[in-house]
Amino acid sequence: MTAASVLDGVRNTEAGYTGVEPDAAWAAQVRELAARRGAVLLAHNYQLPAIQDVADHVGDSLALSRIAAESDAGTIVFCGVHFMAETAKILSPAKTVLIPDERAGCSLADSIDAAQLRAWKAENPGSVVVSYVNTTAEVKALTDICCTSSNAVEVIESISPDTPVLFLPDQFLGAHVQRRTGRTNIQVWAGECHVHAGINGDELAAQVRSHPGAELYVHPECGCATSALYLAGEGIVPDEKVRILSTGGMLTAARASSARQVLVATEVGMLHQLRKAAPEIDFQAVNDKASCRYMKMITPAALLRCLVEGRDEVHVDEATAAAARGAVERMIAIGTPGRGE
Ligand code: SF4
Repeated sequence: MTAASVLDGVRNTEAGYTGVEPDAAWAAQVRELAARRGAVLLAHNYQLPAIQDVADHVGDSLALSRIAAESDAGTIVFCGVHFMAETAKILSPAKTVLIPDERAGCSLADSIDAAQLRAWKAENPGSVVVSYVNTTAEVKALTDICCTSSNAVEVIESISPDTPVLFLPDQFLGAHVQRRTGRTNIQVWAGECHVHAGINGDELAAQVRSHPGAELYVHPECGCATSALYLAGEGIVPDEKVRILSTGGMLTAARASSARQVLVATEVGMLHQLRKAAPEIDFQAVNDKASCRYMKMITPAALLRCLVEGRDEVHVDEATAAAARGAVERMIAIGTPGRGE
């Protein structure tokens, strides 16, 4: 079959590339094209189930970037959003990094750009900048230490208590960190992810009421993290049943859990890996409409096009990559980097 005929039927629409069904023939074609290109396929936990199933590795953004750096493959195909592919490029500058659709952005990463961060730093000289990994390469390059949702508290605690901190871009993760460290000298950027912010306390309370006995896994970026803790404090959800976890932490907890039912407050793609990790548990989304449209731009058609045409390639200029790498490496030096989104 010629390259052109493989792409017969692929259409480029505003929502992404369409026109391909993810059947067994598609999966075989993807595997063959990846082998021909010497590419390793990485898929984020929020990807479509078919993309997760065809990938070599599935995980959170930072774990995947580290797998990419350690892989022998010369080409990395990153099925996730753009900042994640950039992070893989930052950690693997000599490798070719491809994303199946470069339009797959992130509302959280877009909530602060380099110019805004430069201005915030200028207003707060002497502050240490801590950025969640959901940021662009340019923002990471202006950052002192990166963090993930599972090590954010540890990263803040590594900074002298007297040193003021600028924390970005996620206000919910920032509030979680303020609460856990008790520090009053942390300023938090008012950014948010449209998907996580859409999972709110009312919905959570209703779900908890209608699923008595279920455990609750909450990602700290969710707008509901505060409500989950509040509900626990009020005794509406028993304290020990509420777990504030990164996506990687959710998988570890699921494998060790004896719960019959778990309510999950994060992007719905996560349910696929959780159900595979612990098939005996009934996992239910707190909000089944919490789906990231950017993540879902990595369609079966987009992946085929990427492997046939070698596009879209991710570039990060050397100076930006070196500075951004410093912020990621300082995080790794503090301790276990844990997992990101
Ligand atoms: S779920 Fe939110 S934070 Fe994650 S990629 Fe989508 S927009 Fe960004």
